[in-house]
Amino acid sequence: MSDYNWCHGPECHTYTTQSRVRGSGRDKVLRTRKVKVYHDRQYQWDWTNFFCDNRCLMDYLRKHMQQIIQHEPRTKPLELPIKVEKEKYESYKYNWNSNEPIRIPYQATRTVINKVDNS
Ligand SMILES: [Zn+2]
Repeated sequence: MSDYNWCHGPECHTYTTQSRVRGSGRDKVLRTRKVKVYHDRQYQWDWTNFFCDNRCLMDYLRKHMQQIIQHEPRTKPLELPIKVEKEKYESYKYNWNSNEPIRIPYQATRTVINKVDNS
């Protein structure tokens, strides 16, 4: 397992930054940047392991969008069962009609969305 990947951005080597300049003397090259790889489970498939920055990620997505979409086509929307409930809670508002604002408590209502556990 290597500690570095070459950036997968198809245009990475064309962007004129100091971090891409390699070679000695006057004749140099712009080279694809290296990306530090994090092997821990949580980050192993994170985009930052494969692309040096957001621009390179977006270049890649633009170039390969057709293939990526065909990999998992979505012809229908997905749905997740939920329960929507109204919940009462204590809140307050201010009356500004006098010299000092007066804090007035009241019972407010909020909408709570709960996922339905089907397991
Ligand atoms: Zn890059």
